[in-house]
Amino acid sequence: MAGRTGRKIPRETAPADAVDARDVVADVPVAAADADTARAADIPSLDRLLHAPPMHPLLEAYGHTQVVAALRAHLDTLRQAALLGRLAQASIDVLDIARQVQAALDAAARPRLRAVFNLTGTVLHTNLGRALLPDDAVAAVVRALTAPANLEFDLDTGGRGDRDDLVEGLLRELTGAEAATVVNNNAAAVLLMLNSLADRREVIVSRGELVEIGGAFRIPDVMKRAGAKLVEVGTTNRTHPSDYESAVGPRTGMLMKVHCSNYAVTGFTHSVGAAQVARIAHQAGLPMTVDLGSGTLLDLGRWGLPREETVRDTLAAGADLVTFSGDKLLGGPQAGLIVGRADLIRKIKKNPLKRALRVGKLTLAALEPVLALYRAPELLAERLTTLRLLTRPAMHMREQAERMLPVLQQALGAGYKAVAAPMFSQIGSGALPVDQLPSYGYAIRHAGTGRPGRALEKLEASLRALPRPVIGRIADNALWLDLRCLEARDEAAFLAQLEASLA
Ligand SMILES: *Cc1c(COP(=O)(O)O)cnc(C)c1O
Repeated sequence: MAGRTGRKIPRETAPADAVDARDVVADVPVAAADADTARAADIPSLDRLLHAPPMHPLLEAYGHTQVVAALRAHLDTLRQAALLGRLAQASIDVLDIARQVQAALDAAARPRLRAVFNLTGTVLHTNLGRALLPDDAVAAVVRALTAPANLEFDLDTGGRGDRDDLVEGLLRELTGAEAATVVNNNAAAVLLMLNSLADRREVIVSRGELVEIGGAFRIPDVMKRAGAKLVEVGTTNRTHPSDYESAVGPRTGMLMKVHCSNYAVTGFTHSVGAAQVARIAHQAGLPMTVDLGSGTLLDLGRWGLPREETVRDTLAAGADLVTFSGDKLLGGPQAGLIVGRADLIRKIKKNPLKRALRVGKLTLAALEPVLALYRAPELLAERLTTLRLLTRPAMHMREQAERMLPVLQQALGAGYKAVAAPMFSQIGSGALPVDQLPSYGYAIRHAGTGRPGRALEKLEASLRALPRPVIGRIADNALWLDLRCLEARDEAAFLAQLEASLA
Protein backbone atom coordinates (compact mmCIF):
# COMPACT_ATOMS: atom_id res chain seq x y z
CA MET A 1 0.00 0.00 0.00
CA ALA A 2 1.46 3.28 -1.07
CA GLY A 3 0.86 6.41 0.89
CA ARG A 4 2.47 8.66 3.37
CA THR A 5 2.88 6.11 6.09
CA GLY A 6 4.05 3.33 3.82
CA ARG A 7 2.08 0.87 5.88
CA LYS A 8 0.43 -2.22 4.52
CA ILE A 9 -3.21 -2.63 3.69
CA PRO A 10 -4.66 -3.59 7.07
CA ARG A 11 -3.56 -0.51 8.91
CA GLU A 12 -4.02 2.11 6.23
CA THR A 13 -6.82 4.55 6.77
CA ALA A 14 -8.90 6.38 4.21
CA PRO A 15 -7.17 9.35 2.62
CA ALA A 16 -8.83 12.73 3.07
CA ASP A 17 -11.45 13.68 0.53
CA ALA A 18 -11.00 17.40 0.85
CA VAL A 19 -8.49 19.99 1.99
CA ASP A 20 -8.53 19.36 5.69
CA ALA A 21 -6.26 21.25 8.03
CA ARG A 22 -6.14 18.37 10.51
CA ASP A 23 -4.81 16.16 7.82
CA VAL A 24 -2.10 18.55 6.85
CA VAL A 25 -1.00 19.24 10.41
CA ALA A 26 -0.36 15.55 10.87
CA ASP A 27 2.31 15.82 8.19
CA VAL A 28 4.15 18.75 9.71
CA PRO A 29 7.31 17.21 11.11
CA VAL A 30 7.74 17.88 14.82
CA ALA A 31 10.92 19.75 15.69
CA ALA A 32 13.36 17.36 17.33
CA ALA A 33 15.47 19.97 19.07
CA ASP A 34 15.36 23.72 19.65
CA ALA A 35 17.86 24.27 16.84
CA ASP A 36 15.32 22.72 14.42
CA THR A 37 12.41 24.90 15.43
CA ALA A 38 11.20 27.71 13.26
CA ARG A 39 9.33 30.82 14.38
CA ALA A 40 6.11 32.13 12.86
CA ALA A 41 8.09 35.05 11.46
CA ASP A 42 10.22 32.60 9.46
CA ILE A 43 7.23 31.27 7.51
CA PRO A 44 7.35 32.55 3.91
CA SER A 45 4.61 34.98 2.92
CA LEU A 46 1.72 33.96 0.72
CA ASP A 47 2.90 36.37 -1.94
CA ARG A 48 6.44 35.02 -1.98
CA LEU A 49 5.15 31.48 -2.18
CA LEU A 50 2.83 32.26 -5.07
CA HIS A 51 5.79 33.48 -7.08
CA ALA A 52 8.09 30.61 -6.13
CA PRO A 53 8.87 28.25 -9.06
CA PRO A 54 7.67 25.08 -7.22
CA MET A 55 4.18 26.59 -7.15
CA HIS A 56 4.01 27.18 -10.92
CA PRO A 57 2.80 23.71 -11.89
CA LEU A 58 0.14 23.91 -9.19
CA LEU A 59 -1.10 27.26 -10.46
CA GLU A 60 -1.22 25.83 -13.94
CA ALA A 61 -3.17 22.75 -12.87
CA TYR A 62 -5.55 24.22 -10.31
CA GLY A 63 -5.74 27.97 -10.99
CA HIS A 64 -5.03 30.91 -8.71
CA THR A 65 -8.18 30.75 -6.56
CA GLN A 66 -7.81 27.16 -5.43
CA VAL A 67 -4.06 27.40 -4.89
CA VAL A 68 -4.41 30.53 -2.74
CA ALA A 69 -7.11 28.87 -0.62
CA ALA A 70 -5.03 25.73 -0.10
CA LEU A 71 -1.90 27.77 0.64
CA ARG A 72 -3.76 29.88 3.21
CA ALA A 73 -5.03 26.76 4.96
CA HIS A 74 -1.55 25.27 5.03
CA LEU A 75 0.07 28.48 6.28
CA ASP A 76 -2.51 28.57 9.09
CA THR A 77 -1.49 25.12 10.25
CA LEU A 78 2.18 26.12 10.11
CA ARG A 79 1.46 29.21 12.23
CA GLN A 80 -0.43 27.12 14.76
CA ALA A 81 2.52 24.72 14.99
CA ALA A 82 4.86 27.70 15.47
CA LEU A 83 2.75 29.06 18.33
CA LEU A 84 3.08 25.70 20.07
CA GLY A 85 6.84 25.79 19.47
CA ARG A 86 6.52 22.70 17.31
CA LEU A 87 7.29 24.04 13.85
CA ALA A 88 10.23 22.26 12.25
CA GLN A 89 12.57 24.17 9.93
CA ALA A 90 12.00 21.52 7.28
CA SER A 91 8.33 22.35 7.00
CA ILE A 92 8.86 26.00 6.05
CA ASP A 93 10.93 24.98 3.06
CA VAL A 94 9.20 26.15 -0.12
CA LEU A 95 9.47 22.73 -1.73
CA ASP A 96 7.92 21.08 1.28
CA ILE A 97 5.08 23.59 1.35
CA ALA A 98 4.44 23.02 -2.37
CA ARG A 99 4.34 19.27 -1.80
CA GLN A 100 1.87 19.55 1.06
CA VAL A 101 -0.37 21.96 -0.84
CA GLN A 102 -0.29 19.70 -3.88
CA ALA A 103 -1.38 16.73 -1.77
CA ALA A 104 -4.30 18.73 -0.37
CA LEU A 105 -5.34 19.96 -3.82
CA ASP A 106 -5.05 16.49 -5.36
CA ALA A 107 -7.20 15.03 -2.60
CA ALA A 108 -9.84 17.74 -3.02
CA ALA A 109 -9.90 17.28 -6.79
CA ARG A 110 -10.45 13.56 -6.71
CA PRO A 111 -13.85 12.75 -8.25
CA ARG A 112 -16.63 11.62 -5.94
CA LEU A 113 -17.84 9.06 -8.46
CA ARG A 114 -14.97 6.63 -8.73
CA ALA A 115 -14.17 3.36 -10.44
CA VAL A 116 -14.11 0.44 -8.02
CA PHE A 117 -13.35 -3.26 -8.31
CA ASN A 118 -16.62 -5.12 -7.85
CA LEU A 119 -15.57 -8.33 -6.13
CA THR A 120 -18.91 -8.75 -4.38
CA GLY A 121 -19.93 -11.57 -6.70
CA THR A 122 -23.08 -9.69 -7.67
CA VAL A 123 -22.79 -8.91 -11.37
CA LEU A 124 -25.65 -6.41 -11.66
CA HIS A 125 -25.02 -4.60 -8.37
CA THR A 126 -27.45 -1.70 -8.06
CA ASN A 127 -25.22 0.16 -5.57
CA LEU A 128 -22.23 -0.22 -7.89
CA GLY A 129 -24.02 1.01 -11.00
CA ARG A 130 -25.49 -2.20 -12.48
CA ALA A 131 -24.59 -3.12 -16.07
CA LEU A 132 -21.20 -2.23 -17.55
CA LEU A 133 -21.45 -1.08 -21.12
CA PRO A 134 -19.67 -2.61 -24.10
CA ASP A 135 -17.06 -0.49 -25.89
CA ASP A 136 -19.35 0.30 -28.83
CA ALA A 137 -21.87 1.87 -26.48
CA VAL A 138 -19.17 3.87 -24.71
CA ALA A 139 -17.90 5.18 -28.06
CA ALA A 140 -21.45 6.17 -29.04
CA VAL A 141 -21.88 8.09 -25.79
CA VAL A 142 -18.62 9.95 -26.34
CA ARG A 143 -19.77 10.85 -29.88
CA ALA A 144 -23.12 12.08 -28.61
CA LEU A 145 -21.37 14.18 -25.97
CA THR A 146 -18.91 15.83 -28.28
CA ALA A 147 -20.79 16.32 -31.56
CA PRO A 148 -24.29 17.54 -32.41
CA ALA A 149 -26.58 14.65 -33.26
CA ASN A 150 -29.99 14.05 -34.86
CA LEU A 151 -31.69 13.46 -31.51
CA GLU A 152 -35.02 14.89 -32.66
CA PHE A 153 -34.28 15.62 -36.26
CA ASP A 154 -35.43 13.49 -39.16
CA LEU A 155 -32.49 13.21 -41.52
CA ASP A 156 -34.72 11.92 -44.35
CA THR A 157 -37.21 14.76 -44.39
CA GLY A 158 -35.25 17.50 -42.66
CA GLY A 159 -38.20 17.92 -40.33
CA ARG A 160 -38.65 17.38 -36.64
CA GLY A 161 -38.04 13.83 -35.41
CA ASP A 162 -39.02 11.83 -32.35
CA ARG A 163 -36.21 10.63 -30.08
CA ASP A 164 -37.95 7.28 -29.54
CA ASP A 165 -37.54 6.58 -33.26
CA LEU A 166 -33.81 6.05 -32.70
CA VAL A 167 -34.41 2.72 -30.97
CA GLU A 168 -38.04 1.85 -31.71
CA GLY A 169 -37.15 -0.16 -34.83
CA LEU A 170 -34.68 -2.32 -32.92
CA LEU A 171 -37.08 -2.83 -30.02
CA ARG A 172 -39.84 -3.90 -32.40
CA GLU A 173 -37.51 -6.28 -34.21
CA LEU A 174 -36.19 -7.84 -30.99
CA THR A 175 -39.50 -8.20 -29.15
CA GLY A 176 -42.13 -8.49 -31.88
CA ALA A 177 -43.92 -5.44 -30.45
CA GLU A 178 -45.89 -3.03 -32.63
CA ALA A 179 -44.41 0.02 -30.94
CA ALA A 180 -42.03 1.11 -28.19
CA THR A 181 -41.08 4.08 -26.08
CA VAL A 182 -38.23 4.79 -23.67
CA VAL A 183 -38.15 6.57 -20.31
CA ASN A 184 -35.63 7.13 -17.54
CA ASN A 185 -35.92 3.77 -15.76
CA ASN A 186 -38.38 0.93 -15.30
CA ALA A 187 -39.93 2.57 -12.24
CA ALA A 188 -40.78 5.54 -14.47
CA ALA A 189 -42.09 3.16 -17.14
CA VAL A 190 -44.49 1.55 -14.66
CA LEU A 191 -45.62 4.92 -13.30
CA LEU A 192 -46.21 6.31 -16.78
CA MET A 193 -48.02 3.21 -18.00
CA LEU A 194 -50.36 3.16 -15.00
CA ASN A 195 -51.06 6.88 -15.16
CA SER A 196 -51.69 6.80 -18.91
CA LEU A 197 -54.04 3.81 -18.92
CA ALA A 198 -55.56 3.59 -15.45
CA ASP A 199 -55.81 7.08 -13.91
CA ARG A 200 -58.79 6.98 -11.50
CA ARG A 201 -59.41 3.39 -12.53
CA GLU A 202 -58.85 0.07 -10.81
CA VAL A 203 -55.84 -2.12 -11.55
CA ILE A 204 -56.10 -5.80 -10.66
CA VAL A 205 -52.89 -7.42 -9.37
CA SER A 206 -52.26 -10.72 -7.61
CA ARG A 207 -51.31 -10.42 -3.91
CA GLY A 208 -48.32 -12.64 -4.64
CA GLU A 209 -46.93 -9.98 -6.99
CA LEU A 210 -47.19 -6.84 -4.83
CA VAL A 211 -43.45 -6.59 -4.61
CA GLU A 212 -41.06 -4.10 -3.14
CA ILE A 213 -37.94 -3.67 -5.21
CA GLY A 214 -34.92 -2.33 -3.31
CA GLY A 215 -34.67 1.44 -3.04
CA ALA A 216 -38.28 2.14 -2.08
CA PHE A 217 -40.09 1.00 -5.20
CA ARG A 218 -43.29 -0.64 -4.05
CA ILE A 219 -45.94 -1.51 -6.56
CA PRO A 220 -48.83 -0.33 -4.29
CA ASP A 221 -47.12 3.05 -3.70
CA VAL A 222 -46.35 3.61 -7.36
CA MET A 223 -49.92 2.71 -8.17
CA LYS A 224 -51.24 5.36 -5.77
CA ARG A 225 -48.95 8.05 -7.20
CA ALA A 226 -50.06 7.11 -10.70
CA GLY A 227 -53.67 7.77 -9.66
CA ALA A 228 -54.70 4.15 -10.03
CA LYS A 229 -56.62 2.16 -7.44
CA LEU A 230 -55.06 -1.16 -6.56
CA VAL A 231 -57.36 -4.17 -6.38
CA GLU A 232 -55.53 -7.11 -4.83
CA VAL A 233 -56.70 -10.58 -5.73
CA GLY A 234 -55.81 -14.04 -4.50
CA THR A 235 -53.54 -14.72 -1.55
CA THR A 236 -49.79 -14.37 -1.09
CA ASN A 237 -49.07 -17.88 -2.26
CA ARG A 238 -52.03 -18.76 -4.49
CA THR A 239 -54.01 -16.89 -7.10
CA HIS A 240 -56.49 -18.49 -9.51
CA PRO A 241 -58.14 -17.32 -12.75
CA SER A 242 -61.46 -16.96 -10.93
CA ASP A 243 -59.84 -14.43 -8.56
CA TYR A 244 -59.14 -12.15 -11.53
CA GLU A 245 -62.51 -12.82 -13.16
CA SER A 246 -64.56 -11.91 -10.11
CA ALA A 247 -62.56 -8.70 -9.52
CA VAL A 248 -63.28 -7.28 -12.98
CA GLY A 249 -65.92 -4.56 -12.82
CA PRO A 250 -67.06 -1.29 -14.41
CA ARG A 251 -64.21 0.67 -12.80
CA THR A 252 -61.43 -1.67 -13.89
CA GLY A 253 -58.75 -0.02 -16.03
CA MET A 254 -56.35 -2.91 -16.56
CA LEU A 255 -55.08 -6.24 -15.33
CA MET A 256 -51.41 -6.29 -14.45
CA LYS A 257 -48.74 -8.85 -13.69
CA VAL A 258 -45.51 -7.99 -11.89
CA HIS A 259 -42.35 -10.08 -12.04
CA CYS A 260 -41.37 -11.33 -8.56
CA SER A 261 -37.89 -10.00 -9.16
CA ASN A 262 -36.19 -10.25 -5.82
CA TYR A 263 -37.95 -13.11 -4.12
CA ALA A 264 -39.42 -16.47 -4.93
CA VAL A 265 -42.74 -17.90 -3.79
CA THR A 266 -42.14 -21.60 -3.31
CA GLY A 267 -44.03 -24.52 -1.79
CA PHE A 268 -47.83 -24.62 -2.00
CA THR A 269 -48.21 -22.01 -4.71
CA HIS A 270 -50.28 -21.21 -7.74
CA SER A 271 -50.15 -18.25 -10.03
CA VAL A 272 -51.97 -17.47 -13.22
CA GLY A 273 -49.80 -17.21 -16.32
CA ALA A 274 -49.68 -14.15 -18.56
CA ALA A 275 -51.68 -15.88 -21.31
CA GLN A 276 -54.58 -16.64 -19.01
CA VAL A 277 -54.64 -13.19 -17.39
CA ALA A 278 -54.52 -11.66 -20.88
CA ARG A 279 -57.49 -13.79 -21.96
CA ILE A 280 -59.54 -12.66 -18.95
CA ALA A 281 -58.61 -9.02 -19.60
CA HIS A 282 -59.44 -9.19 -23.30
CA GLN A 283 -62.81 -10.85 -22.66
CA ALA A 284 -63.66 -7.77 -20.63
CA GLY A 285 -62.24 -5.45 -23.30
CA LEU A 286 -59.38 -4.39 -21.01
CA PRO A 287 -55.63 -4.19 -21.53
CA MET A 288 -53.28 -6.57 -19.75
CA THR A 289 -49.80 -5.31 -18.85
CA VAL A 290 -46.67 -6.89 -17.39
CA ASP A 291 -43.84 -5.30 -15.42
CA LEU A 292 -41.10 -7.77 -16.29
CA GLY A 293 -38.40 -6.11 -14.20
CA SER A 294 -35.17 -7.36 -15.71
CA GLY A 295 -36.73 -8.27 -19.01
CA THR A 296 -34.51 -10.54 -21.08
CA LEU A 297 -34.61 -10.37 -24.86
CA LEU A 298 -33.25 -13.86 -25.50
CA ASP A 299 -33.63 -17.21 -23.76
CA LEU A 300 -30.72 -17.33 -21.31
CA GLY A 301 -30.94 -21.12 -21.21
CA ARG A 302 -28.94 -21.03 -24.42
CA TRP A 303 -25.90 -19.97 -22.33
CA GLY A 304 -26.55 -22.36 -19.47
CA LEU A 305 -28.13 -19.64 -17.39
CA PRO A 306 -31.49 -19.99 -15.67
CA ARG A 307 -34.46 -19.57 -17.98
CA GLU A 308 -36.58 -16.44 -17.81
CA GLU A 309 -39.64 -15.61 -19.84
CA THR A 310 -38.50 -13.19 -22.54
CA VAL A 311 -40.19 -9.95 -23.54
CA ARG A 312 -41.18 -11.56 -26.83
CA ASP A 313 -42.74 -14.57 -25.04
CA THR A 314 -44.72 -12.24 -22.79
CA LEU A 315 -46.08 -10.23 -25.70
CA ALA A 316 -46.82 -13.41 -27.63
CA ALA A 317 -48.76 -14.71 -24.62
CA GLY A 318 -51.10 -11.76 -25.06
CA ALA A 319 -49.71 -8.93 -22.92
CA ASP A 320 -50.66 -5.58 -24.42
CA LEU A 321 -47.73 -3.74 -22.86
CA VAL A 322 -44.52 -4.93 -21.22
CA THR A 323 -42.10 -2.74 -19.24
CA PHE A 324 -38.51 -3.60 -18.32
CA SER A 325 -35.18 -2.10 -17.27
CA GLY A 326 -32.34 -1.14 -19.59
CA ASP A 327 -29.53 -1.75 -17.11
CA LYS A 328 -30.41 -5.13 -15.65
CA LEU A 329 -30.09 -8.32 -17.73
CA LEU A 330 -30.40 -6.32 -20.93
CA GLY A 331 -26.91 -4.99 -20.18
CA GLY A 332 -27.44 -1.41 -21.31
CA PRO A 333 -27.75 2.04 -19.76
CA GLN A 334 -30.31 2.97 -17.08
CA ALA A 335 -33.61 3.19 -18.93
CA GLY A 336 -37.20 1.99 -18.80
CA LEU A 337 -38.56 0.38 -21.93
CA ILE A 338 -42.23 0.09 -22.74
CA VAL A 339 -43.18 -2.11 -25.68
CA GLY A 340 -46.48 -3.38 -27.02
CA ARG A 341 -49.67 -2.24 -28.76
CA ALA A 342 -49.28 0.83 -30.98
CA ASP A 343 -52.49 2.54 -29.80
CA LEU A 344 -51.48 2.21 -26.14
CA ILE A 345 -47.93 3.44 -26.81
CA ARG A 346 -49.45 6.46 -28.61
CA LYS A 347 -51.58 7.19 -25.57
CA ILE A 348 -48.53 6.95 -23.30
CA LYS A 349 -46.56 9.31 -25.52
CA LYS A 350 -49.34 11.91 -25.32
CA ASN A 351 -49.19 11.93 -21.52
CA PRO A 352 -47.36 15.09 -20.31
CA LEU A 353 -45.56 12.86 -17.79
CA LYS A 354 -43.74 11.27 -20.71
CA ARG A 355 -42.01 14.59 -21.33
CA ALA A 356 -40.93 14.72 -17.69
CA LEU A 357 -39.63 11.16 -17.72
CA ARG A 358 -37.99 11.08 -21.14
CA VAL A 359 -34.40 9.97 -21.57
CA GLY A 360 -31.48 12.12 -22.64
CA LYS A 361 -29.28 11.62 -25.67
CA LEU A 362 -26.59 9.79 -23.68
CA THR A 363 -29.05 7.06 -22.79
CA LEU A 364 -30.24 6.66 -26.35
CA ALA A 365 -26.70 6.75 -27.70
CA ALA A 366 -25.74 3.87 -25.38
CA LEU A 367 -28.96 1.91 -25.81
CA GLU A 368 -28.90 1.64 -29.60
CA PRO A 369 -25.58 -0.26 -29.94
CA VAL A 370 -26.48 -2.52 -27.00
CA LEU A 371 -29.78 -3.49 -28.63
CA ALA A 372 -27.99 -3.95 -31.95
CA LEU A 373 -25.74 -6.60 -30.36
CA TYR A 374 -28.83 -8.77 -29.85
CA ARG A 375 -29.12 -9.12 -33.62
CA ALA A 376 -26.13 -11.49 -33.44
CA PRO A 377 -27.01 -13.91 -30.65
CA GLU A 378 -24.01 -16.13 -31.47
CA LEU A 379 -21.66 -13.26 -30.63
CA LEU A 380 -23.58 -11.86 -27.68
CA ALA A 381 -21.78 -13.74 -24.87
CA GLU A 382 -18.51 -12.32 -26.12
CA ARG A 383 -19.63 -8.76 -26.87
CA LEU A 384 -22.24 -7.89 -24.27
CA THR A 385 -20.31 -7.23 -21.07
CA THR A 386 -23.09 -8.36 -18.72
CA LEU A 387 -23.56 -11.67 -20.49
CA ARG A 388 -19.81 -12.20 -20.78
CA LEU A 389 -19.48 -11.80 -17.02
CA LEU A 390 -22.46 -14.02 -16.29
CA THR A 391 -21.16 -16.80 -18.51
CA ARG A 392 -17.51 -16.78 -17.37
CA PRO A 393 -16.71 -20.37 -16.43
CA ALA A 394 -15.63 -20.96 -12.81
CA MET A 395 -12.40 -22.46 -14.17
CA HIS A 396 -11.31 -19.03 -15.45
CA MET A 397 -11.78 -17.44 -12.06
CA ARG A 398 -10.02 -20.38 -10.44
CA GLU A 399 -6.92 -19.98 -12.62
CA GLN A 400 -6.99 -16.26 -12.01
CA ALA A 401 -7.27 -16.74 -8.25
CA GLU A 402 -4.30 -19.10 -8.16
CA ARG A 403 -2.24 -16.82 -10.42
CA MET A 404 -2.75 -13.72 -8.28
CA LEU A 405 -2.61 -15.35 -4.86
CA PRO A 406 1.10 -14.71 -4.10
CA VAL A 407 0.77 -10.96 -4.75
CA LEU A 408 -2.41 -10.73 -2.70
CA GLN A 409 -0.95 -12.67 0.20
CA GLN A 410 2.16 -10.49 0.25
CA ALA A 411 0.04 -7.33 0.25
CA LEU A 412 -2.03 -8.66 3.12
CA GLY A 413 0.99 -9.38 5.29
CA ALA A 414 1.18 -11.94 8.06
CA GLY A 415 -2.01 -10.83 9.81
CA TYR A 416 -4.29 -12.40 7.22
CA LYS A 417 -4.40 -15.64 5.31
CA ALA A 418 -5.94 -15.73 1.82
CA VAL A 419 -6.95 -18.96 0.15
CA ALA A 420 -8.34 -19.50 -3.34
CA ALA A 421 -11.85 -20.80 -2.76
CA PRO A 422 -15.01 -21.77 -4.65
CA MET A 423 -18.04 -19.56 -4.10
CA PHE A 424 -21.29 -18.52 -5.77
CA SER A 425 -21.94 -15.33 -7.71
CA GLN A 426 -25.37 -13.80 -8.17
CA ILE A 427 -26.90 -12.12 -11.17
CA GLY A 428 -28.23 -9.28 -9.02
CA SER A 429 -30.75 -6.49 -9.51
CA GLY A 430 -33.49 -8.85 -8.51
CA ALA A 431 -33.00 -11.06 -11.53
CA LEU A 432 -33.54 -14.73 -10.76
CA PRO A 433 -32.83 -14.39 -7.04
CA VAL A 434 -32.63 -18.08 -6.23
CA ASP A 435 -30.18 -19.03 -8.93
CA GLN A 436 -26.50 -18.86 -8.17
CA LEU A 437 -23.52 -19.11 -10.47
CA PRO A 438 -20.49 -21.24 -9.49
CA SER A 439 -17.47 -18.98 -9.21
CA TYR A 440 -14.04 -18.69 -7.64
CA GLY A 441 -12.11 -16.13 -5.67
CA TYR A 442 -10.55 -15.62 -2.26
CA ALA A 443 -11.61 -16.27 1.28
CA ILE A 444 -9.44 -14.13 3.55
CA ARG A 445 -9.31 -14.91 7.25
CA HIS A 446 -7.65 -13.26 10.20
CA ALA A 447 -4.43 -15.06 11.08
CA GLY A 448 -3.45 -13.37 14.31
CA THR A 449 -4.87 -13.17 17.80
CA GLY A 450 -7.69 -10.84 18.77
CA ARG A 451 -11.25 -10.57 17.54
CA PRO A 452 -11.46 -11.85 13.94
CA GLY A 453 -14.60 -9.80 13.27
CA ARG A 454 -12.87 -6.50 13.96
CA ALA A 455 -9.78 -7.50 12.00
CA LEU A 456 -11.93 -8.37 8.97
CA GLU A 457 -13.81 -5.09 9.21
CA LYS A 458 -10.48 -3.27 9.25
CA LEU A 459 -9.30 -5.17 6.21
CA GLU A 460 -12.57 -4.55 4.39
CA ALA A 461 -12.26 -0.82 5.17
CA SER A 462 -8.66 -0.60 3.99
CA LEU A 463 -9.45 -2.32 0.71
CA ARG A 464 -12.28 0.15 0.33
CA ALA A 465 -9.81 3.01 0.96
CA LEU A 466 -7.47 2.05 -1.90
CA PRO A 467 -7.15 4.52 -4.82
CA ARG A 468 -9.48 2.22 -6.79
CA PRO A 469 -11.53 0.74 -3.96
CA VAL A 470 -11.87 -3.04 -3.81
CA ILE A 471 -15.34 -4.08 -2.69
CA GLY A 472 -15.85 -7.54 -1.23
CA ARG A 473 -18.20 -8.96 1.36
CA ILE A 474 -17.82 -10.34 4.86
CA ALA A 475 -19.55 -13.61 5.76
CA ASP A 476 -18.76 -16.54 8.03
CA ASN A 477 -15.66 -14.95 9.57
CA ALA A 478 -14.03 -14.35 6.20
CA LEU A 479 -13.74 -11.57 3.66
CA TRP A 480 -14.83 -12.98 0.28
CA LEU A 481 -13.49 -11.61 -2.98
CA ASP A 482 -15.28 -13.07 -6.00
CA LEU A 483 -13.22 -12.71 -9.18
CA ARG A 484 -16.09 -13.07 -11.65
CA CYS A 485 -16.21 -9.34 -12.40
CA LEU A 486 -12.43 -8.90 -12.60
CA GLU A 487 -11.91 -9.41 -16.30
CA ALA A 488 -8.47 -9.93 -17.87
CA ARG A 489 -8.36 -6.29 -18.97
CA ASP A 490 -8.63 -5.12 -15.34
CA GLU A 491 -6.29 -7.69 -13.84
CA ALA A 492 -3.07 -5.73 -14.46
CA ALA A 493 -4.50 -2.64 -12.74
CA PHE A 494 -5.70 -4.76 -9.83
CA LEU A 495 -2.29 -6.38 -9.38
CA ALA A 496 -0.42 -3.10 -9.80
CA GLN A 497 -2.45 -1.58 -7.01
CA LEU A 498 -1.73 -4.53 -4.72
CA GLU A 499 1.95 -4.36 -5.57
CA ALA A 500 2.04 -0.63 -4.87
CA SER A 501 0.62 -1.39 -1.46
CA LEU A 502 3.74 -3.45 -0.72
CA ALA A 503 6.01 -0.47 -1.24
C1 LIG B 1 -36.03 -3.50 -10.97
C2 LIG B 1 -37.50 -3.50 -11.09
C3 LIG B 1 -38.20 -2.30 -11.20
C4 LIG B 1 -37.50 -0.98 -11.18
O1 LIG B 1 -36.70 -0.84 -12.32
P1 LIG B 1 -35.63 0.35 -12.40
O2 LIG B 1 -35.10 0.27 -13.79
O3 LIG B 1 -34.61 0.07 -11.35
O4 LIG B 1 -36.35 1.61 -12.13
C5 LIG B 1 -39.56 -2.36 -11.31
N1 LIG B 1 -40.22 -3.55 -11.30
C6 LIG B 1 -39.58 -4.72 -11.21
C7 LIG B 1 -40.36 -5.99 -11.21
C8 LIG B 1 -38.19 -4.74 -11.10
O5 LIG B 1 -37.53 -5.90 -11.00
